Amino acid sequence: MFGIFGRVTISKSRLCSRPLCANDAEVLLLFEYETRLVELRGLNRVRDSNLLELCTNHADTFRPPHAWSCQDVRQTQLTAESDESRYVR
Ligand SMILES: [Zn+2]
Repeated sequence: MFGIFGRVTISKSRLCSRPLCANDAEVLLLFEYETRLVELRGLNRVRDSNLLELCTNHADTFRPPHAWSCQDVRQTQLTAESDESRYVR
């Protein structure tokens, strides 16, 4: 639909935010300053430059700042999505 760009998948165009890392970004880090919570989520379709996007390796080794907690909601997301598709069919 967009010529040559149609052949490039979204994941290939989005790299990990860590310097010197050439892996594809797979995980989105959301910083909730009110509650001091870092949420690890699956990538959004639209890139937001304010958010940190990491590859799986770096997301797995990520440690939140002091006094922050970290919540991995990737698995929850996957479950929710498969529930949704069940309804569609
Ligand atoms: Zn990385």
